[in-house]
Amino acid sequence: MALIECSACKKRISSLAKSCQFCGVSQGEESEGTQKIRQINRASQLQTHSFIALTLFIAGVMIWFWGGEAAEGTRLYIGGACFVFGFIGYLITRIRIILNRRGKV
Ligand SMILES: [Zn+2]
Repeated sequence: MALIECSACKKRISSLAKSCQFCGVSQGEESEGTQKIRQINRASQLQTHSFIALTLFIAGVMIWFWGGEAAEGTRLYIGGACFVFGFIGYLITRIRIILNRRGKV
């Protein structure tokens, strides 16, 4: 027996239960409308994430090349960290957006 999350109230319930013991919503019978709303919500959340990652990436580049000279010491590490995390974060978010559009949540 495993514990799953209720599709309505997000409380932990048994995967064997046909309906949630807390809110009574039946599990595994999600309407298409609910799924669509969930997908849209997820898409907008991912858009926000990709925006944050992109901002971090640009900030990293700016820190690095501030004043037209190559960064040194602490600034090099801060800029480099922003650059790398922003870039990786952006890539991951883009992949998740594509997967979300295909409906593989
Ligand atoms: Zn519930």
